[in-house]
Parts: sequence; C-alpha cells; structure tokens
Amino acid sequence: MNKLIVLVLLTLGTPAAWSATYDLVIRGGRVLDPETGLDASVNVGINGGRIARVSAEQLTGTRTIDAHGLVVTPGFIDLHQHAQDDVSGVLKAFDGVTSGLEMEIGVPDVKEFLARKSGHSRINFGTTASHSAARAAAFGQPLASTDLIPASGRSSNDPATPAQLAQMEARLQQELDAGALGIGMGIQYVPGATREEVIRIFRLAASRHVPVFTHVRSAGRTEPGSSIEAVEEVIGAAAVTGASLQIVHINSSCLADAPECLAMVAGARARGLDVTTEAYPYTAGMTTINSALFNPGWQEKFGISYDALMLPNTGERLSRKRFDELHASPTSTDVILFLNRQELVDAVIADPLASIASDGELGHPRDAGTYCRILARYVRELRTVSLMDAIRKMSLMPAQRLEKATATARRKGRIQEGADADIVVFDPATVTDRATYEHPTERSTGMRFVLVNGVLVIDKGALVPGVLPGAAIVSDQDSRGRP
Ligand SMILES: [Zn+2]
Repeated sequence: MNKLIVLVLLTLGTPAAWSATYDLVIRGGRVLDPETGLDASVNVGINGGRIARVSAEQLTGTRTIDAHGLVVTPGFIDLHQHAQDDVSGVLKAFDGVTSGLEMEIGVPDVKEFLARKSGHSRINFGTTASHSAARAAAFGQPLASTDLIPASGRSSNDPATPAQLAQMEARLQQELDAGALGIGMGIQYVPGATREEVIRIFRLAASRHVPVFTHVRSAGRTEPGSSIEAVEEVIGAAAVTGASLQIVHINSSCLADAPECLAMVAGARARGLDVTTEAYPYTAGMTTINSALFNPGWQEKFGISYDALMLPNTGERLSRKRFDELHASPTSTDVILFLNRQELVDAVIADPLASIASDGELGHPRDAGTYCRILARYVRELRTVSLMDAIRKMSLMPAQRLEKATATARRKGRIQEGADADIVVFDPATVTDRATYEHPTERSTGMRFVLVNGVLVIDKGALVPGVLPGAAIVSDQDSRGRP
C-alpha cells in the first residue's frame, strides 16, 4: 500500500468504518452491559485484548464465535478469592470468573505474589496489603509467603506498642508502593488490634486513596461484641478518616442481623460515605481452626457448637477433644462452619447493595460454584435477582470498588468499546454450579466461552490447555489524580 492510500484511509475514519477484520468476533449473542443498560442482540469485535466494536453491524473476524441463544456479559470479578493456585484458577474460569483477587486479608508479600503469578495465571489477579501480616512482622513473628491468617498468639491477641504500630504502617506503605490495591484487615483474626489501631490503618488507606477491605471484629448477637457493633466500628472508622470501605461477606459476619447490617451500609451511603459490601451464596463458612476466630467464647458468639464444625476433606464432624487438639496446633487446618440459615443468605444475595464475592478456598464449594450458583439459583430458580442485576453484582460493582485504586478497573466489568476483553458467553437455560460440600471441586457447567484479555481460556465449554493470559491488576498513580 502506498503512503497516499494509507493517508486517504486514515482520513476516511476509524478502522471499524471500513469493514475491519477483528482478531475475534462474538456474533449474535444477547449482550448485556450493566453500566449502559445495553441488553440487545449485537456483535462484539475484539482486537489486541480489548473490545474494539460493539455493534448490530456485521463484523468480520479471524475467528468467529456463534453466540446465538447465548448470553454475552463482562467476565466476573471476584474480589475475595483466597486460593490462588492453578487448580482454583481452572475452577474459577469454569465458573465465569476472569479476575480473582485476594482482597479480604491480602498476601504477606505483594511483590513476591505478583512476581510468582505473572505469566502463570489463567485469570487476572491482584491483592491488598495485609494488615495481619504487617502486624505479625512487627511482633517478630512474620507469616510465610503462602500464609494468610496468623495462628492465635501474641501477634493476633496482644495490643501493639506505638513502635510496633509505626512499623506496621511503614510496612503497609511499602506494600502499597508494590502495587497493593487497598488494605486488607481481618480484624476478627487480630483481636488485639485496638480501636485506635483500626483508625490509624484506615487513615493510612485514606491518605493513599485506596479502599479498606475488612472482615469485621466480631459476629453474633452477644453484647458487647455483636455484629452490629463490629459494623459500627468500621463505618465509624471510614467516617472519621475518609477511607473507602468494603465490608466483606456480610452474610457470615452479620448472620441473623444481616438485614440490619445492610441497613447500616445503606444509611452510611445515604450520608455520603463510600461504604460497600459483598456476600457469598452458601450457609457454611470456612476458616483456619487455630486462628483467633476460635478464641474462647466462639460458641456463644456464633450460636453453634463442635458438631457444626466439619473438616473439608474427610467430612469429619468435630468433637470437643478433636477441636482442642486442632485449635492448639501450630499447623493450620481448614474447617467448615455451618452457621447460617438459608433464608437469610437468600435475602442478602437479593439485596441490591450486596455484590458477589466467593471467599474461595479449596475444600468449600464456594471456590468452584459461587457465580454459576447465582445464575442458577437466584436468577433462574428463585427469580429474586434479574439477569442484569446478577451481572451487575458479579462484574460492574466489583470493578467500581477498585476504581479509586486503579484506572485499569474502569476497563473491567463492562462490554463497551475500549474495555478489556474479559468476557463470558454462557447458556442461561442450563448454566449451573455443581460443587457441593462432599464434592467441592466439581466444575460449574454452562460457560461456553470465557475470554481473559481477549484470549479464550474456555472454548466450546472445554478448557484450553496451556494458555495463561491472566494479568496483574495493581494500583496506579493516575487514578489518584496525581502526576
Ligand atoms: Zn473472612
């Protein structure tokens, strides 16, 4: 082509105007974009990892996916994904998750985590800076890079000295410099953290323009120390510091008081505070048995006893003797806790304020089934959530939660020109979760195509071997309006 023709073509308009060929075209699907409200049969053209065209016009692609009868939506963004190994990466992809981030607690070493995952992940990833890990280090008991939650001990149960608190803050600053998207605070796992410590950490997050994600201090109805008091603490800390706040798993942190906790979030928002929340669609929780969550008083707090605790791999229900042995062990063992009622979980999931996040860990069905369970149970069977609202809760809302920390998030959770091509194409009539407490790693079914940054990781319902297009999502300076 000579230069004159190139010039003429350039002046005639954008490539889309003259029948471009795209890397990939998704043709004829019902396309949903929760931000613009688009719900129409249109074609999507993808180039270089981004959505280049969304149009009713015929588009030509090097590869074309026929999506007639299927739904095309933004890939799901899981802000609460603990298991970061490839086994879970595969499960998440089958569940429609294109980004899975460790935001509740945060990894102990952000730089090491990002380096380890880069080029080795099917789905996008990211993390918060870990308050618990910074605390453990300040107490001279640093966590291993693969640990998340400290064992119950001095670093979890004792108040920090002023010097230790200053050390924690310095460590969190470093972790934010390394790309952490916020600060993760599992306050219930570090009950030694005073109210003042919590406010100091929120103040640090506010000064860095990143959100705090928190598992609140307590659960249950016993006062002092109720769920409501715990939610008041973090909303208060957000109010006095100006930090943005995501209260994680409001279903399991608030239990029977979840309706009131949601009303408190609504009230905070009505007063102009940036407070959001999330939930997962299961009645059981899961955590480590040697953590401070099981400090004395846990039975009264949660209203359960030993028989509500189950080991994930064997299904063994615990006795007092077995509990005492595992709780005292320095080795952490995962345990499933049956502590919620189905009707409460169903009410929380249907609430417009609750986004969806899995709290995914191997051993609990939520790791593999959270997102397709929303589509199967709440959209198709109970009809308590519309398809568009489900997509909003699973893609746009989590993207928006990250937008203050990174401009990248503005390109996620959307089917719009210029957005990242993180896309799922599924059959709304059959999509379903299949994981159970007995078989927690059963893959969800019904996802026909899943794209991460424009690359197919699920193709015609089958895993594409050897492709690892997941990219790091890290904080940036642009989103904070600084040079
Ligand atoms: Zn938690």
